Amino acid sequence: MITRRRFLAGSMLASLSGYYTSMASALDRLVPWRNWSGALIAHPRARLAPSSEDQLVDQIKGSTGAIRPVGAGHSFTALVPTDGNLVVMDKMSGLISHNEQANEATLWAGTRLADSGPMLDKISQAMFNLPDIDRQTLAGAIATSTHGTGRDLKSLSGYVTGLRLVTPSGEVLDLDENNNSDLFHAARVSFGAFGIITRIRFRTREPFRLRTQTWAEKTEDVLEKFDQSIEDHQHYEMMPLVHSDYSLVVAHTETDEPLQTLVEEEDGGEFISMVAATPVMLRKALIHTLAGLQDPTEVVSESFNALTNLRHDRFNEMEYSIPVASGPDCLREILATIKRESIDVAIPLEYRIIGGDDAWLSMFVGGPRVSISVHRMASQDYRPLFNRIEPIFWKYGGRPHWGKVHTLGYDRLRELYPKYDDFVALQASLDPQGRMLNDHLKYLLGR
Ligand SMILES: Cc1cc2nc3c(=O)[nH]c(=O)nc-3n(C[C@H](O)[C@H](O)[C@H](O)COP(=O)(O)OP(=O)(O)OC[C@H]3O[C@@H](n4cnc5c(N)ncnc54)[C@H](O)[C@@H]3O)c2cc1C
Repeated sequence: MITRRRFLAGSMLASLSGYYTSMASALDRLVPWRNWSGALIAHPRARLAPSSEDQLVDQIKGSTGAIRPVGAGHSFTALVPTDGNLVVMDKMSGLISHNEQANEATLWAGTRLADSGPMLDKISQAMFNLPDIDRQTLAGAIATSTHGTGRDLKSLSGYVTGLRLVTPSGEVLDLDENNNSDLFHAARVSFGAFGIITRIRFRTREPFRLRTQTWAEKTEDVLEKFDQSIEDHQHYEMMPLVHSDYSLVVAHTETDEPLQTLVEEEDGGEFISMVAATPVMLRKALIHTLAGLQDPTEVVSESFNALTNLRHDRFNEMEYSIPVASGPDCLREILATIKRESIDVAIPLEYRIIGGDDAWLSMFVGGPRVSISVHRMASQDYRPLFNRIEPIFWKYGGRPHWGKVHTLGYDRLRELYPKYDDFVALQASLDPQGRMLNDHLKYLLGR
């Protein structure tokens, strides 16, 4: 029986819990969200942090307004910012299951790349390739077709064989080649426009070791030998040192040699600081001297340690993927423009090659491409540099990296992807109210 005292106590608790909920929501608004570089800021009304799919479905159904999933916040474009509900997937992390025969592993979407390496190693599996750093979540990485480098290797989304998606209406869909295959190929690279991805199944391979070699070499010589080098080395990239004739080259080759103890990782920060402190007109002399002094290095390590680096200094980045044949000329024009106009750029460019895949909005759909990146320290305004360089990328048929600074909207993007309008139609059918959209996504999708 409910006594008066119990009734009063119950009402007090109910109103207190309402008070705390609205306090928590007000506090959520006070705690801003920022991306890694600090250039993007948002004040979400609520942070939803589900620990299970059932809870996520309840949270979506119980919420109103915009919904934006966030991974590790490492994108430079405004894919995540929202004043609505930010969905944080940190509690849905780890290995779910694996298939030894098929070389597949299913992981929770919020798993960080850094955790996935040792996790997969324990079950004698490994990712084929990894990007430059490993702080991202798996869902965040595939959402923008995040990639490493290697002629015969795809971006991470190219190895996805299955997904579980919770749509904005709270429906739970299992997608793969045989189940809803259109949605599967669209959702693999969908920057959180279709709903929340909770599980990802990857094609994996057996664990492997890499011999990593680094050296400095004249950029023109590296370009001349590029086709042969990417055949000789499983993973291969060059970092042109702006204002000079040199590049830093990093080559990884698979090996059975014994592991070596990794010396403390260096993130290139010292080099960049030294270059940044030198007047632009003196940089060529400085870099040529440093390149002459640079001893080649070599080390053998596990693939997941070899392929990823630490990046302490915060920056913003623009990256476009260019058809392979046009890559060298595009790179030359960027380097020549920066030199001719004495633009103050201290961070080396990055030039990588990535194999083609078939996700509708993968930057690499339709065949291999080279990616070229330009960086600006986070403390500097990136617009003067990026506005100057971006039209050069357009001239060579570039596609912007979804997670890196660019200015393209719907009209231009639909010319770059054969399935762009199909993607937009699918998005609208799953999300008729546009709950998954923020201003940036509306601009991308023309909705
Ligand atoms: C220092 C640095 C180095 C980088 N190096 C590389 C590199 O080598 N190669 C490369 O290609 N890129 C690189 N990037 C870019 C980065 O990999 C991408 O921007 C990636 O998308 C970031 O992943 P994240 O987990 O931080 O996701 P976020 O940036 O938080 O989100 C990215 C997208 O994923 C969506 N998303 C997140 N979780 C989910 C989910 N569960 N379901 C549905 N959608 C979701 C978000 O809504 C958003 O649209 C680098 C970035 C930095 C800062």
